Amino acid sequence: MKLASALTTTVALAALISGASYAADMATPPDSAAVVEHIDKAKKLAGNDLTVPMFLCRADSGMMVRNAIENDSGKWMEPTKLFDNIFWMGNRFVGVFAIKTSDGVILYDSGSSTDEIQNHIVPGLQKLGIDPKTIKYSIISHGHYDHFGGAAWLQKTYGVKIGLSAPDWDLVAATPLTAGREAPTRDVVIADGQVFKLGDTSITFYVTPGHTPGALSAILSGKEKGKTYTLSLLGSVAFPPNLDPTPQNGGLLLYDKSVQRFADISKKAGAVGILNTHAFADGGLQRLDAAAARKSDAANPFLIGADAVNRYYGLFDECLKAAIARPHSADDIGKPSVPPKRS
Ligand SMILES: [Zn+2]
Repeated sequence: MKLASALTTTVALAALISGASYAADMATPPDSAAVVEHIDKAKKLAGNDLTVPMFLCRADSGMMVRNAIENDSGKWMEPTKLFDNIFWMGNRFVGVFAIKTSDGVILYDSGSSTDEIQNHIVPGLQKLGIDPKTIKYSIISHGHYDHFGGAAWLQKTYGVKIGLSAPDWDLVAATPLTAGREAPTRDVVIADGQVFKLGDTSITFYVTPGHTPGALSAILSGKEKGKTYTLSLLGSVAFPPNLDPTPQNGGLLLYDKSVQRFADISKKAGAVGILNTHAFADGGLQRLDAAAARKSDAANPFLIGADAVNRYYGLFDECLKAAIARPHSADDIGKPSVPPKRS
């Protein structure tokens, strides 16, 4: 790879994972007793069914996200129906949920690039029998290109309205873009606690800073065989290296507050399933594979139950606490999204 393009790729990757711990490349010191305690609590909560998200507790979790970007972005999955009103188009790194309403479709995210939305996400929708002309909104979980990369094309091609939180619209505007990636024009601003209505469908959005300054999480409904199930969608995954907020992210301390708050919201809403557009990170890939192979009378793999939803957010919280308890150097404060020099 030529130096310039290698640098562009590295900077783009680093931006996605908020400059996550590149130091993990080097020898990592053993975890302190306080860190181990949080990891043990997380393991207990994970049980046997939530082992996939346990990678978040590792000191090199950022590196694992980076590996997923590099290894799994090209692995496209079969477009899959999750519920009567919720569909998935994506690869094994990141994808898009389509929510069908009586007055058109809402997409959660938009793919990583013009190529992905045009050649994978939209054809996936069509394969599932959904006319892309019926897409009314694309709500972007947060202002990183793997979520907003297809939004400009949707705006121009179908007049789709694009929604982000105010802080993450600013993040999009400040993002340096590489070839094949375009930023959407500032459009709908989604506020914390906003009940978003389209046709027969309501989605409640929450601004959950941490991974970015204003990641959007949501409480929504999955419908199946005449029943409605409450689902909880956390709009982010990877941990920032710094404790306090920077222009690029909300920092670990705020991330932990957001996750605790959203766990509580999800519990009160009666959530019985979780969704994440990074399906590799929450066990979603396994559920998607099961959904694709599912016989019509079999249980829905996305209905994991209220207890599992609570345990998922509990372990996420403990892994964040482990990350907070690890040593933080002055370097971590406002660390720019550029890795240190390496040989
Ligand atoms: Zn991101």
